[in-house]
Amino acid sequence: MMVTPIEALELVTYLKENNQFDESLKNKCKETIGKFRLDQQLGNGKKSFLRRTYTCPFFNHQELGCPLPREVKPYGCLAFNSHHSELKAGAECFSEKEILEARDKAIIDEEKENQEIKEKYSLYWDKTPLPLALMDFFDEK
Ligand code: SF4
Repeated sequence: MMVTPIEALELVTYLKENNQFDESLKNKCKETIGKFRLDQQLGNGKKSFLRRTYTCPFFNHQELGCPLPREVKPYGCLAFNSHHSELKAGAECFSEKEILEARDKAIIDEEKENQEIKEKYSLYWDKTPLPLALMDFFDEK
């Protein structure tokens, strides 16, 4: 999942408040970055947001699913999900529209806010894979 600075900061704030922004998460992020080579640039420089495939460090292999509350998940995670655990064909997939709308209302000027966060935390990206984004906030800690 690619995240913007706003999405990353919202998630980091939640994780800090819940004592989950810790060494264990940092190690998972490092593992994911190494395993899926997320820190290596791909492409020919024409596309700024190349999608990368990787297993999210929050994905729980024991009890399938994501432990993050919907309010702090990256937008893309709310975009089009199955709402029925048994179905895999997409018949029960739909967006978390209410949450997406609430987030849109809460962010008055997304571009400006992203820019401010970039400057405050010295981020070089507009969008980046979630583990890389979190590592920038660990480094800032
Ligand atoms: S839903 Fe959760 S586990 Fe899945 S990509 Fe988003 S943050 Fe990661």
